Amino acid sequence: MPARFLFMDEVDAYDDDVDGKGSPINLAIKRTATFSRNRKILMASTPNIAETSKIEAAYEASDKRRYLVPCNSCGNYQPIVWAQIIFDNHDPATSRFECVHCGHKHYVKDKPKLLSNGHWQAETEKSSKVAGFHLSSLYSPNGWYSWQNAVEDF
Ligand SMILES: [Zn+2]
Repeated sequence: MPARFLFMDEVDAYDDDVDGKGSPINLAIKRTATFSRNRKILMASTPNIAETSKIEAAYEASDKRRYLVPCNSCGNYQPIVWAQIIFDNHDPATSRFECVHCGHKHYVKDKPKLLSNGHWQAETEKSSKVAGFHLSSLYSPNGWYSWQNAVEDF
């Protein structure tokens, strides 16, 4: 069946081959060929093993966008990364996001402002046809997976 819109979720869990016919991703993409001028293909996944990850390979082939948030103190934009999630004395309750530029401490109460004032920025312009978005659980809105949850899991 031809499809103009294709959404593939958790692609890193897909088999590499379906009944000897090849990659299920490629098989699905072939179904969009009829609409090659105005099709949309969306792949999403939690990444698995780096060397074999299908979503990582797709992201690397994209324009590699990350969501940058502005520091509440110095205003410099940066991604929320695990290296900047700081906690004291093995206590997850002290979890915070510290600015890589000025060290300003952002607590959970600051998260809505960080997220609402952020923007997507591409790392590369090598591909104008494929947009890739990287977003970790550290961006989860308040009430979902928190920085404290991440530190507890760590
Ligand atoms: Zn700062």
